[in-house]
Amino acid sequence: MYRTNTCGELRLSDAGKKVTLAGWVQRIRKMGSLNFVDLRDRYGITQLVADDSADPKVLEVLNSLGREFVIQAKGIVCERQSKNPKMPTGDIEIKLEEIVVLNSAATPPFTIEEQSDGGEDLRAKYRYLDLRRGPLQRALKLRHQMAIETRKYLDSKDFMEIETPFLIKSTPEGARDFVVPSRMNPGEFYALPQSPQTFKQLLMVAGFDRYCQIVRCFRDEDLRADRQPEFTQIDCEMSFVEREDVLQMFEGLVKHLFKNVKGIEFNEPFERITYDEAMNYFGSDKPDLRFGMQMHEITSVVQGHGFSVFDSAEYVGAIAVPGCAGYSRKQTDELTEWVKRPQVGAKGLVFIKLGDEVKSSIDKFYTPEQIQEIAKACDAQKGDLILILCGPKHKTQVALGTLRLEMGARLGLRKGDVFKPLWVTDFPLLEWDDETQRFYAMHHPFTSPKPEDLDKFFSNDKEALAQVKANAYDIVLNGNEIGGGSIRIHDRKVQERMFEILGFTHEQAEYRFGFLMNAFKFGAPPHGGLAFGFDRLCALFGGQETIRDYIAFPKNNMGRDVMAEAPSVIDDAQMDELFLKSTYKKEETK
Ligand code: ASP
Repeated sequence: MYRTNTCGELRLSDAGKKVTLAGWVQRIRKMGSLNFVDLRDRYGITQLVADDSADPKVLEVLNSLGREFVIQAKGIVCERQSKNPKMPTGDIEIKLEEIVVLNSAATPPFTIEEQSDGGEDLRAKYRYLDLRRGPLQRALKLRHQMAIETRKYLDSKDFMEIETPFLIKSTPEGARDFVVPSRMNPGEFYALPQSPQTFKQLLMVAGFDRYCQIVRCFRDEDLRADRQPEFTQIDCEMSFVEREDVLQMFEGLVKHLFKNVKGIEFNEPFERITYDEAMNYFGSDKPDLRFGMQMHEITSVVQGHGFSVFDSAEYVGAIAVPGCAGYSRKQTDELTEWVKRPQVGAKGLVFIKLGDEVKSSIDKFYTPEQIQEIAKACDAQKGDLILILCGPKHKTQVALGTLRLEMGARLGLRKGDVFKPLWVTDFPLLEWDDETQRFYAMHHPFTSPKPEDLDKFFSNDKEALAQVKANAYDIVLNGNEIGGGSIRIHDRKVQERMFEILGFTHEQAEYRFGFLMNAFKFGAPPHGGLAFGFDRLCALFGGQETIRDYIAFPKNNMGRDVMAEAPSVIDDAQMDELFLKSTYKKEETK
């Protein structure tokens, strides 16, 4: 037997027992005549001790130990002289009787402790060593619990977990596909799924009624901050449902996870706002509701008083920042520079300080009464700092929303331990792209328009099409989209019209989605569903911003696995087999 106990479980009540532990040497210390070893495994750390009068064989092995050696230690559980209340095992130590080196270890390139001294790149290269550290062990444990609780809940609601294929037909729409050459079918390629969307819809046609899967998805995107080329979704679909059924079911899942993983109960239904409201009040389709500071449109209040910057703007909006009327000139200058950064993209910033004295950067253009009118339109209180941006509507709303988040963060209002989930509904169905001069599906091409907008949907008027709302919804937590879905199109005519709007010819639609369209001929039930971003959900539950810690072996932001060094070139024979060589060589000699 390698061990009788783990390194995390022995307590004072075990004193006197003879035990065998196994694990990694975290630290070796000598204090006077005493030799200490901190022995670590997944469950915790236990202190081993031997004084200079111990068996010389034990002392000899102790002298040979290095960090991260794998050892087996036998001894008696004893009460510690100086206890460590910070450690669950801090009341005891093991008085060594025997110690065996199971494997030696090269000196690790960084310290394997709560806080490591290793930089990010180094830790990524030795990911398996980084994974030995407490924070990462806890992150993956949380992820495991989340997966278990998700399955428990969904199983209790009659969902069936069904696996869908990874080698599928390439149907680029949305992100770029990763493709896989087929050796047996020269010149042809599979794609890795961006999501199991079409398959889960086919499962509804097949009558499975409630499907779920914790599933890997693949998207070949330029990696924006904190995205991974492969990531995991909790993917779900239901038949014979309306939007309300889907929202209730998955609000239930999120509440179940909060209760069972974090011990937090939500007794009230989650808030719901429409996409238009989200943009108008928060300048974002994923608003952070942990704090107020809502946006106010003040276009009509400020226009017509001779201030040409406002008069010529499509939109003027403001936030009232509580308690910041005392901002100095230096501080407002700094904020002005901040909003002008390309990431925010505002042209300038107008402010009103509602201190004992009211001061603003537009005093020349507005009377004190008019300034009060503006303050009223912003619901501002004495002591507030009003910040105003103007310009094209959507762009300015987004910039003001970004400023709102920044001020929330500066005022410490975005607390890690406060959770504010909400639903955002009624997204636009289509987005016009000026560059390619066509509409794109805002969610995906299988999302149904809202029934009341079907006339617009079938019209040929670009303006009308841009106004069509989708029966789509996102679930948002603390300013992050954690999931999204929709009621699907199950009517062949509507689906054909959708492909037409997206600019596919009949043949193109047939080539890409023929299998789905064909299936819809055979009795597709009304259906809908959604998918959660599982990695992000875990990170938020863990109180972290980054998903990388919640994935055992993530890629870096160039999409590389720096540990195994993938992607990598493959040898000529492999290339030949896949009929790739000739093209590759041609590229090379260009
Ligand atoms: N497949 C969608 C996605 O990956 C989610 C859904 O509509 O169910 O975003």
